Amino acid sequence: MSARFRIGIDLGGTKIEGAAIDVCGSVRFRHRVVTPAQDYSGTIDAIIALIGTIDRGVGTTAPVGIGIPGTVSPTTGLIKNANSTWLIGRPLQRDLESALGRPTRLANDANCFALSEATDGAGAAVETVFGVILGTGVGGGIAIRRQILAGANAIAGEWGHNPMPWPTPEEIPGPPCWCGRSGCLETFLSGPAVAADHYRRTRRMQTAPEIAEAAAAGDPECCATLERYMDRLARGLASVINVVDPDAIVLGGGLSSISALYEQVPRLWIRHIFSDRVATPLFPPLHGASSGVRGAAWLWPPEEAP
Ligand SMILES: [Zn+2]
Repeated sequence: MSARFRIGIDLGGTKIEGAAIDVCGSVRFRHRVVTPAQDYSGTIDAIIALIGTIDRGVGTTAPVGIGIPGTVSPTTGLIKNANSTWLIGRPLQRDLESALGRPTRLANDANCFALSEATDGAGAAVETVFGVILGTGVGGGIAIRRQILAGANAIAGEWGHNPMPWPTPEEIPGPPCWCGRSGCLETFLSGPAVAADHYRRTRRMQTAPEIAEAAAAGDPECCATLERYMDRLARGLASVINVVDPDAIVLGGGLSSISALYEQVPRLWIRHIFSDRVATPLFPPLHGASSGVRGAAWLWPPEEAP
């Protein structure tokens, strides 16, 4: 097994991405396959085959880190909280390790994003990074000195199913959430949530990227939707700052490409933060869509020889 490489796998609902990165963080080989949806043993086989392809691509074997859309339960070792529901209740880590015959580390995909940006990304210069996923779902992870803070229940940083703080009357009770509650942050801040909010106000069916693009071009209804979105994001992040007070917040996921967020949201969150001055920077991701595989690989830190 080579100490020079780490293999990172990003297990998504539609595709599985894999890459080998060297200890300096350079990607040496990259490959992706389609996720066998609803098929647990097919998913295991696809991951094993992908790792075999990467082994051949770099000419050696390397330790494996895998970012998953869920969490390994600290009490049972089984997968929980996965929106790829065919993984729930399965001993994914044990099954992969026995099939691969090499050490394998698993972590939540939002935690991998935070770790990627904290290790050699937008938050590399600071100690505590809150990494935020704003995509089809809303997740988050906390990295402290380039290590994931897992938490007693393995849910540290999972802010998406807290309620929207400082709600307006029209935000109560809020849209129903798949988790069984109503008005979760995810029901306001995910990509589909923005599109639904826009439709409720305007009866116009537009995706989040379309709304952001039209807002940048001055469309008044899209501007109004984006302003509601930024105010909600600011309130959600203010409540995180009031608890964790991270040195930096890094946004990821599809909505992180909306450039207006980085200018407006830090202005909007000030009035909700329990501090006379707020120095928290809000950064776009340095590695973007690659942060999933990179953070999974960094589950084996550069200084740790496997
Ligand atoms: Zn929820």
